[in-house]
Amino acid sequence: MLRVAVVGSGPSGVYAAQTLVRQREVPGVRVDVLDRLPAPYGLVRYGVAPDHEKIKSLTGSLRAVLEDERIRFLGNVEVGGPSLTTDRLLELYHAVVYCVGAARDRLLGIPGEELAGVHSATAFVAWYSGHPDAAAFDLRGVRSAVVVGAGNVAVDVTRILARGAPELTGTDMPHPALGVLAGSGLRTVSMVARRGPSQGRFTTKELRELGTLPGVAVRVDPAELTLDPTYRDPGAAAALPAVARRNLEVLRGWAEADGEAAGKPDRTIALRFQLRPAMVLGGTDGRVVGMRFERTAQDGAGGVTGTGVYEDVPAELVLRSVGYQGVPLPGLPFDAARGTIPHAAGRVLRAGRASVGEYVAGWIKRGPTGVIGTNRPCAKETASSLLQDAGALARRDLPGDPLDALRAAGLRPVEWPGWLAIEVAEADLGRSLGRRSVKIPDWSGLLHAAGSPAPPTP
Ligand code: NAP
Repeated sequence: MLRVAVVGSGPSGVYAAQTLVRQREVPGVRVDVLDRLPAPYGLVRYGVAPDHEKIKSLTGSLRAVLEDERIRFLGNVEVGGPSLTTDRLLELYHAVVYCVGAARDRLLGIPGEELAGVHSATAFVAWYSGHPDAAAFDLRGVRSAVVVGAGNVAVDVTRILARGAPELTGTDMPHPALGVLAGSGLRTVSMVARRGPSQGRFTTKELRELGTLPGVAVRVDPAELTLDPTYRDPGAAAALPAVARRNLEVLRGWAEADGEAAGKPDRTIALRFQLRPAMVLGGTDGRVVGMRFERTAQDGAGGVTGTGVYEDVPAELVLRSVGYQGVPLPGLPFDAARGTIPHAAGRVLRAGRASVGEYVAGWIKRGPTGVIGTNRPCAKETASSLLQDAGALARRDLPGDPLDALRAAGLRPVEWPGWLAIEVAEADLGRSLGRRSVKIPDWSGLLHAAGSPAPPTP
């Protein structure tokens, strides 16, 4: 038997586990999928926006994998902490595949970023997704918000901020977050990109969705679009990737409609381009009151330069959505510049040499890019490297069932029945609130529901 630990139960971890057990070359592979949280599915549960039900329904296929009899889910197990070091994990298993994602957000590096009211999109997403480590947001007094960045996460947080209560009530968003968002007096969300409309990183489906929100007008300034040469020149536009061409057409439509179609909107989304963050503006109480941007011009090589012209955009809330970053795991090598664990075809590299039994997949392997499906080939490559090494790896005798060792180390793993009990508790909670299943957003609630109450605090 080849015993493998996969660390992380998001898409890359589940796809790695699936590939490892559903192949024929190496019989007898058994996989434990460990997760720091009591709940599985990683960013599908704690990152995909609650109103994106179709993408969320992917949990159905991830569930089928985790219910395979050759796979065991062990939640509430933190790897890299004092109870379970990476070295100890490698003693317990023949091989370990790290699929820990990219947990941290990137900073803008501008003055005022530390002001109250400035947050990362990551923190905001974690809060409305019910992540048990998330801090609560307070939107009292917020009438205008600025979202910095032009990726799909920026689009997600812009949309969630702009949505009205009736649309959010039907989601599994935690009840306290729903109350805050539904009761907010927010009127304008400005999503601001430092480059041009043809250079947005969002996909067209996500962009277009902004125009479908009830009671929301989308405003795009035609003058700002024309700063992008490809907007003015059909010849140059023809050379763009298809997604950029489609995005330009969607934006052109909004610019020409001038926000009229929505009648008298409750809220407005302003899509801004060619403005790079210069500083966050604070009031006398230390809270953000706006953001100063510098107008940019395209440099003809895909980048932008500053023009020395500045514009202030009022905001009582600023969310920076400028990408995720991997976090080093104690005991493993780390490429700080790329925010990833160095690897060759998924084999972890220590001082340039493949480390026996250690592998990576997903965002911690290739950086925070791509859609969920991108993780499938990425995990397959890693799994096939591991399977090539299987003969050598399986020669080592293991000390016994790793679950016993985890318990002996003081860990209290939440197994699959514990997770199913959380699902039942969330359905019950939803029913009691007159909603569908609603997420439990705190550690004690999750562990209690799983039948593994947290030890009392001394
Ligand atoms: P992303 O796609 O890498 O976008 C990051 C954005 O931040 C870019 O617009 C970038 O602009 C901007 N940016 C970076 N540094 C900046 C700075 N200092 N000042 C101003 N702007 C800055 O990252 P993401 O939105 O976090 O998404 C991560 C991945 O998850 C992506 O692959 C995304 O497609 C995926 N995702 C998909 C969905 C979905 O399919 N529905 C939902 C969420 C996330 P430049 O282009 O100028 O660098």
